[in-house]
Amino acid sequence: MQITAAVSRGPSAAPVLETLELEEPRAGEMRIRLVATGICHTDLHEHPGRRAPHPIVLGHEGAGVVDALGDGVRGFAVGDHVILSGSSCGDCRNCREGRVTYCDLTMPLCFGGQRRDGSTALSCGGETVHSHFCGQSSFATHALVSERTAVKVDKDLPLEMLGPLACGVITGAGGIIEALKVGFGASVAILGAGGVGLSAVMAARLIGAEQIVAVDINPARLELALELGATHAINSADPDATTQVRAVTGRGVDFTFNTTNVGEVHTMALDVLAMNGTAGFVAAPLGAWAPAMFPMLGGGRQLRGILGGDANPGLFLPRLIEYWRQGRFPFDRLLTFYRFDEIARAFDDIHHGRVIKPVLLIGDAA
Ligand SMILES: [Zn+2]
Ligand SMILES: [Zn+2]
Repeated sequence: MQITAAVSRGPSAAPVLETLELEEPRAGEMRIRLVATGICHTDLHEHPGRRAPHPIVLGHEGAGVVDALGDGVRGFAVGDHVILSGSSCGDCRNCREGRVTYCDLTMPLCFGGQRRDGSTALSCGGETVHSHFCGQSSFATHALVSERTAVKVDKDLPLEMLGPLACGVITGAGGIIEALKVGFGASVAILGAGGVGLSAVMAARLIGAEQIVAVDINPARLELALELGATHAINSADPDATTQVRAVTGRGVDFTFNTTNVGEVHTMALDVLAMNGTAGFVAAPLGAWAPAMFPMLGGGRQLRGILGGDANPGLFLPRLIEYWRQGRFPFDRLLTFYRFDEIARAFDDIHHGRVIKPVLLIGDAA
């Protein structure tokens, strides 16, 4: 069928809407009619062609309605409302043990721009266009996804809000709750107050952390972090920011959760850590990083990379939605909505930090 999709090719600043051909769903796949999709920094990084091949349709925070089923799909019916999450193989040991974010095939399945067998779902006048980005390619009116990628949600929920739950929000909330297991009486510093960091702030409050320290260079984001549950806000541009974070408890913090890829922030994340504390991060530091910090690990401290918040989307997302319904996890405060054809403006706004989480409205849920 013919679809409209935002294609990344060439030197444009943002993906451009084009008409493409989408093939029929194969065995185990469903066709999703997208209602909305979030835009994430990973889309920004991949748009110029970093890991994924071009031309490609990016987008990996989709939410939509099941439109057609391939052979062998169980557990979903046409008309079901779904959130799309990342891709995983289902066969490797980590998948079989339920740790799907650490699937052995995460990199080729999420960034290969194709199915596991090397085929793509999209073309343009005979030219191959890469698909299945993070299992989705959701910058489109329709997408083919593996059954494994979708999480069913109630039809009375506002579907246009839910896509970001499966990447940015779960990365932050899962990082605090599932990976670091921050709990009652704990102190945590959250470094970077973007979509991931602010989701982490809300999760830390939800789970009962005693001190929740938000660190960012943007005063407006620090203000929002305080509204969402941070107990302290510290501007990382202050020369003594590290001292200020340590002073919150007088002994450093039990946990840091670093949502940035900035080398200095990775250094700070270890520097502010109490004895026996754990530093979690979601993105490796850009460029060479300071091995001089490694003696910090001698005090029983741990440094831990976290993918997708360590969380199983099928179990974790329904819980986040229920906490949202109860008014205890107001992730909707992070969202700014755009029409699909405003994708260039949305890319520019997130790139310049004018919005936290842009969401493209693509179609109606009904
Ligand atoms: Zn993402
Ligand atoms: Zn796997």
